[in-house]
Amino acid sequence: EPLIRIDRLSKQYRMGGATVHALTEVSLQVLPGDFLAIIGPSGSGKSTLMHVIGCLDTPTSGSYWLDGEEVSRLKENRLATIRNRKIGFVFQSFNLLAKLSALENVELPLIYRGVPARQRKQLAQEALDKVGLGDRVHHRPVELSGGQQQRVAIARALAGNPPILLADEPTGALDSKTSVEVMELIRALNNHGHTIVLITHDLDVAEQASRIVRIQDGRLFVEGGASV
Ligand code: ADP
Ligand code: ADP
Repeated sequence: EPLIRIDRLSKQYRMGGATVHALTEVSLQVLPGDFLAIIGPSGSGKSTLMHVIGCLDTPTSGSYWLDGEEVSRLKENRLATIRNRKIGFVFQSFNLLAKLSALENVELPLIYRGVPARQRKQLAQEALDKVGLGDRVHHRPVELSGGQQQRVAIARALAGNPPILLADEPTGALDSKTSVEVMELIRALNNHGHTIVLITHDLDVAEQASRIVRIQDGRLFVEGGASV
């Protein structure tokens, strides 16, 4: 059974009198263990699709089954619960809290989930070990390189063991050598069974995935051109 099943999903924004068609009849499936890249230029609908997949926003029409549950019509509080359990987010701009250590940053989503302190620290330590930062747990973001900060963010995304890792331009703020290292880590996580959805405008980054779909003017195409 797919972890993600999106069927003829559309999203429109009202802008004064006009309607912006950000996503049009998008269909997409992601199976457990997949590594899917969604590639498209600026304005193609990537952020809108990322927000819908990540349960940060709901579509105007169509359906979205996430890990067996239809989520496209849910209200924000229910959506927030699902988002916290099902999706580990990685963003371009790391979004780490400057005053907290790496370990404390990784603990944050576990606090939100009500995991007791001892277990939280253990899970956070394990997640940091997994991304190769087991010896940097007490460093604050400013004491870490950009690549290390993104690894902390990846550890934070993994800490609650969500079924899906959703990475939005994860290398967008990194130099090319560091980008390669972060993509190697993401690929290694996929090899260890993590399901990954990656959103990017960068073909070199997308090519690390096992499957690429292209988004253009709010429509999805498989590489090669056929509409999906
Ligand atoms: P991308 O992330 O690929 O740059 P977006 O999903 O941000 O694309 O945008 C897709 C289209 O939807 C664009 O035409 C954009 O201007 C429009 N759009 C995005 N967000 C909003 C919004 N909140 N209100 C109105 N139009 C929006
Ligand atoms: P940028 O691409 O400007 O660096 P990010 O990659 O940090 O921005 O974020 C991309 C999108 O994800 C933003 O449009 C924002 O709405 C959303 N976002 C960022 N951080 C969070 C968060 N902690 N929780 C929910 N949504 C977020």
